[in-house]
Amino acid sequence: MSVALLDVINSLSLASWGVVIGSLFTALLSGVVYWQDLTKRSSKLFFLFGLVNLVWGLVYAYFEGSFATSGMHAGITMLYATAAVVPPFLFLFLYVFSVEDSQLSKSKLLAFFSPYFAIVGILVFYPGFIVSYEEAVGDTLGKIVFGEGFLIYAFYVLAYLLVGVGLLVKKYRESGGIFKTAIRGLLFAVSVASVTAVMMSLFSPIFASGGHDLFWIGHLAVILLIPLATYILINYNFWNIKIIATELFISIVVLVLITELFLAISLLDLFIKTIIAMLIIFSSSFLVGSVKREIQSKERIMRLSQELDLISKRLKVLDKKKSEFLSIASHHLRDPLTAIKGYASMLSEGSFGDLSRPVLEAIEKIFVSSGHLVTMISDFMDISRIESGDMNYNFKDVDMKKLVLGLASEMKQSAEHSHLTFTATVDEGSDDDEEYVTVGDEGKLRQVISNLIDNSIKYTPRGEISLLLCKSPDGKKVIFSLSDTGIGMSELTKEKIFKKFSRAEGVSKVYTEGTGLGLYVAKEIVKKHEGRIWAESKGEGHGSSFYVELEGKK
Ligand code: ADP
Repeated sequence: MSVALLDVINSLSLASWGVVIGSLFTALLSGVVYWQDLTKRSSKLFFLFGLVNLVWGLVYAYFEGSFATSGMHAGITMLYATAAVVPPFLFLFLYVFSVEDSQLSKSKLLAFFSPYFAIVGILVFYPGFIVSYEEAVGDTLGKIVFGEGFLIYAFYVLAYLLVGVGLLVKKYRESGGIFKTAIRGLLFAVSVASVTAVMMSLFSPIFASGGHDLFWIGHLAVILLIPLATYILINYNFWNIKIIATELFISIVVLVLITELFLAISLLDLFIKTIIAMLIIFSSSFLVGSVKREIQSKERIMRLSQELDLISKRLKVLDKKKSEFLSIASHHLRDPLTAIKGYASMLSEGSFGDLSRPVLEAIEKIFVSSGHLVTMISDFMDISRIESGDMNYNFKDVDMKKLVLGLASEMKQSAEHSHLTFTATVDEGSDDDEEYVTVGDEGKLRQVISNLIDNSIKYTPRGEISLLLCKSPDGKKVIFSLSDTGIGMSELTKEKIFKKFSRAEGVSKVYTEGTGLGLYVAKEIVKKHEGRIWAESKGEGHGSSFYVELEGKK
């Protein structure tokens, strides 16, 4: 080791220069990764790996530059000892990266590094067992000689690399999405670098005549691994290249400014340059801060959107379960209720003998209330069918004139019972036999119209209800309209009544039992018929009008 450093530098080959510059650059790069996230253990270990690689590169260059000079034995021992530290550090980085948040206890570290100490021990205390240097004699050049222990050395290197790559493969299998892509890239880079380094730095000296001619290729492979891994790590951790670029740019600007200070030609010049430098440094810190904040908020939005995705999936599952529950519960409630309603009706009709007046009145109440419950339950069942997409439609020609007039005559009695005037008109237009045929599900359309008439009766304390069936001016559409002189509604109410469970404010004073489901179901049914349903009113207390527009049969 008595060779002067300058001599070594002078005799460096181009390849060695490449190794030195390359490992310096990559150490710097791994430093940037660490600097971006000082708290992350994997980035710290990546930096250490970069440093270890730099030491290996420098020792290699020294070895190469002083090859065939005296003291080569110490040189080669040092080279193999520093090369041996690279695999455990690569393994350590891969271990922490793959086994997330793994705590690196002292005992674990000792276990990971004890093979290394053993190798160094063998190298130092058993010279020649693994590798030695045969000095030049006469014309024969000096060369590297491998001992029996070289197999142990090779096994040591391979074991670290294989286990490290194995961990990465495991992590690759377990992960998904962009992480899988990132890990695939890292796996590729580590594998290619490891195989090249093993072939060129470990095994090639055994076969190549010069012994160490191809060492530099192994180095280069590891040097190339670092930028590739840096790129992947930056993506993987969402460290943004924007921050690095901004900070790098600002560092260069600051460096130039400081250099400028030394080049000042007068005191005034120095003063102005100092002020400018200070201003720029001050504003740059703001710039870096704002870039960092922007990236942090982007990350937060990304995390939030992932959480939202998860929540919405959970909500969908819950909603489905709710619909299922509603459907099961409604089915179980409907059958006994129908029986109650039926028996109440039979009792009031005297099928079981004459009943006293008070008993008849009570039974009448049971009949009416169970009727409400049956309607409510069938609304619930409709909702669960609509939401699960199980509402079946049986489309065929429907004569709306027959349907509306039939319903009108059925419900007229109920309206008159509430002391309301009830009229139903069909606009015959120019043609006496004007047809009001549409294609639809008769039962469902009946449900819509009867619900609207029923609502008018419920929400009209006094006055009249009038039904009209007509055609649109172009004669293509069938329009059913219904006007009442009831409680009317505000603009706001008009907007919301077609929504689920939506009722006008204070409406329960007029009619208590409402659920706010009828119009929602009606709207869904009309939607399936590609028609329109809407309400109009001149305001609270001024009555309401409801319209259903359906496509006439062509
Ligand atoms: P429900 O009648 O059971 O409350 P609907 O969905 O049928 O449910 O009606 C929703 C709401 O629309 C009612 O609660 C009421 O506020 C309003 N509404 C419906 N029809 C009329 C009407 N003819 N006049 C005034 N308000 C009405």
